[in-house]
Amino acid sequence: MSTMITEECINCGVCEPECPNEAISEGEETFQIDPELCTECVGFHDEEQCAAVCPVDCCVPDPNRREDEAALLERAKAIHPDKAAELTLSPQTSRFRAA
Ligand code: SF4
Repeated sequence: MSTMITEECINCGVCEPECPNEAISEGEETFQIDPELCTECVGFHDEEQCAAVCPVDCCVPDPNRREDEAALLERAKAIHPDKAAELTLSPQTSRFRAA
């Protein structure tokens, strides 16, 4: 499931540079996440980096876009073909395996 930014967003912008997929951009009303680029940070981090830094906790799972770990890893590899071999699943690189 991709992560989404709710209307609680205060447009601080701290999440934008944290996304490994450059999925976050400034929208008309709030910052927004492109679901086609969101991998819930699978392959890179053990939690969504936007959610980790958001001061108002408005980066949340989108219940309308549920995806499993395998699909998210495949997307990460497609977005980063140069790093595909390095993108693996572990407690450090997947929120699905994090302690
Ligand atoms: Fe909005 Fe949170 Fe991103 Fe700040 S960190 S721009 S409040 S989603």
